[in-house]
Amino acid sequence: MKWDRLQELNARQAAAVTATEGRVRVIAGAGTGKTKALTYRYAYLVNVLGIDPANILCLTFTNKAAAEMRSRIARMVHSGDYNDFVCTIDGFCVKLLRRDIHRIGFPKTFTILDEDDSRAYARACMEELGIKRTEKTVKDFLAQVSAAKALDDYITTYMLPGVKWTEGMLSSPVACYIHRQMKHYALDFDDLERVANYILDHFEDARTWWQEQLNYIMVDEAQDCNADNWQIVEKLAAGHGNLFVVGDPDQAIYEWRGARPERFTQFASSQDVVLDENYRSTPKILDVANSVISHNRNRIPKNLFTRSAEGKAVIHYHGKNETEEMEWVAAQVRLLLEGGAAPGDVAVLYRASYLSRALEQALLDAKIPYAIWGGTRFFERKEVKDALSYLRLVNDTGDDLSFERIVNVPSRKIGKKFLDGLKERAGREGLPLFAVLKACVAEGGAVRTGAEDFVRMIEEACAAVPESTVSDLLNFLLERSGLKRALREDQDEERLENVDELLRSVRFYETSHGEDDVRLSDYLQDIALYTNQDYRKDTPTVKLMTVHQAKGLEFPYVFVIGLSEGVFPSMRTIREYKKNGEEEERRLMYVAVTRAQRALFLTESEGYNVSTKMSKYPSRFLAEIRRDMFVTEGVMPESLWRGTENMRHVLDEERWGSRVEASEGDPFATERAAYFSPFQAGDTVVHDIFGTGTVVGVNKEGSTFQVRFADGSTRHLRADFLRREDLPE
Ligand code: ATP
Ligand code: MG
Repeated sequence: MKWDRLQELNARQAAAVTATEGRVRVIAGAGTGKTKALTYRYAYLVNVLGIDPANILCLTFTNKAAAEMRSRIARMVHSGDYNDFVCTIDGFCVKLLRRDIHRIGFPKTFTILDEDDSRAYARACMEELGIKRTEKTVKDFLAQVSAAKALDDYITTYMLPGVKWTEGMLSSPVACYIHRQMKHYALDFDDLERVANYILDHFEDARTWWQEQLNYIMVDEAQDCNADNWQIVEKLAAGHGNLFVVGDPDQAIYEWRGARPERFTQFASSQDVVLDENYRSTPKILDVANSVISHNRNRIPKNLFTRSAEGKAVIHYHGKNETEEMEWVAAQVRLLLEGGAAPGDVAVLYRASYLSRALEQALLDAKIPYAIWGGTRFFERKEVKDALSYLRLVNDTGDDLSFERIVNVPSRKIGKKFLDGLKERAGREGLPLFAVLKACVAEGGAVRTGAEDFVRMIEEACAAVPESTVSDLLNFLLERSGLKRALREDQDEERLENVDELLRSVRFYETSHGEDDVRLSDYLQDIALYTNQDYRKDTPTVKLMTVHQAKGLEFPYVFVIGLSEGVFPSMRTIREYKKNGEEEERRLMYVAVTRAQRALFLTESEGYNVSTKMSKYPSRFLAEIRRDMFVTEGVMPESLWRGTENMRHVLDEERWGSRVEASEGDPFATERAAYFSPFQAGDTVVHDIFGTGTVVGVNKEGSTFQVRFADGSTRHLRADFLRREDLPE
């Protein structure tokens, strides 16, 4: 039977769609219609071959991508004809387990632990095992459990019915953790895939049932599958042998989570389809994309082309500070909306979620409705709300809502029963909760030391209000309350970055309002404007998201913000994964750029960065794009590119090794300066005007250097005005 929708595809896509049998691989760059081919293939199987959707498994990575895929498919197949085998891999494992987990003695109603649950389990186990939080962080504990689960046949050892638990067994972290899991029949994310694999391996009838059920299997974004994912897919496909995998090695961005892109590049296929025509973006956008990714050494060279019209120039905006950067973005969005774009046509992408704060404030000021895709607004994030509640309570000790929120955050062992007692007495005596707690402490008796300390801290802070700045107060509370310590102990970097960002935004607020004039109550009142914004659910919104969240999606207008060295590429990734880290970050940049259909805006600004604790310079990824491929707006001193080059040099792998050695016994006070400052004491540097000199000191942030020149003079200079002797101008 002929199917006219095949005409909507190019010849290669049509070949991929109609090659329904065997092992087929589509390997192609961004926006070439891979997902389109996959969804059309699904419709082809149903509408032309008459396959029941219940027999087609269609997998992808994020819930958003799965939802998008379902809706594309729903438009092509008769309604009711698509079922929920269009899902994420984890989603599929849950379905498999709901049917078959009874084989290992679990009920169908088993529970799934999210990350917070897992952390709570870990904390409880650490307490049980007497492991101090100073010895090991919760994150380390979980990593240890996860590693043990990857190595051992832990399912046989601990999870099967009939396992005899002995006292001795419980002394190991993994056993203690699983023992707790078994009490609640709970599985964590690691387990979902492992247990599914176990069942497919050990229960032949279950395996055969699924193999017979799933006549056709398709996987989108296959470059991001990890080893467990591949095993599941291969086991299921071993029945009918029809496996269709689609991917782009240049978009592999999950190696840090164990993805194995080489399983995709080395996939044993019976047919390969290569797509190279991009239908998404303008040639100008593609030039930038090709230019970015061409700097990766570990890749098969390929270039995208398009036949679409030239389009608008790619714009790079440089702001003097972050506020200027975000105000510019908001102004551009406003122009786009006035020009007829719908809010949903605009997406703003960033590398790390703390970067949304400055942008959100600019959008709120400009009255542009926005939504954070797959995340929470900055001022609604738990750690930010907690920190602000401390300030609120200090501002007004009668604020019971804030009191309740933080009295036991971080844990002071104040239980619900004790709180209920407080509330009851507060009601009786007509007093705020804090006043009652204070009275309890004064009366002595059975009050927890944590509660006593809490009262003392709030009182100290209250007493300090008249002569402290808001930022000092916040800093004091963050440290003294143990809020930051708890986040550090959990190595919860994202939340730490968010509280640091909050602190930084308070400092900025003070500088822009004249430091001495800012009263705590004024600040809190102002900030309430940002925290209480509510849109109706159906208001169309501009979308803000991390680049990881944006994978597979497309938008007419895309802004990539915060393009500073150390932010994007992320210093942390480069520090941990060195050269591979840089290449993965560059692929991420390629993903970001290739989301844009009609216009692309790349922005960054000067200033101080909270996460790197350094001055900001433009990202190396911007520096790598050929200069005639974008137009720069804003006043951009050329010397800043030199700062980029210097920073990059420091983060470079070989330099790294020699630097750590050289830092032994060096005069730089902080470890950070030794690791991340572009220059160290003793380095020879060149200044355009003052000539050659030697670095003799650095300021605390590692951004300004004291240099002694040949004539004996010493000057404090910024990194972007200096270059290494061995670097060309
Ligand atoms: P990514 O790598 O980002 O996941 P992709 O390769 O999956 O991209 P799609 O999202 O399938 O690409 O397609 C990109 C855009 O190009 C979509 O808007 C799609 O409708 C359009 N497109 C794909 N193929 C064609 C075609 N043959 N004719 C016209 N438009 C097409
Ligand atoms: Mg796709």
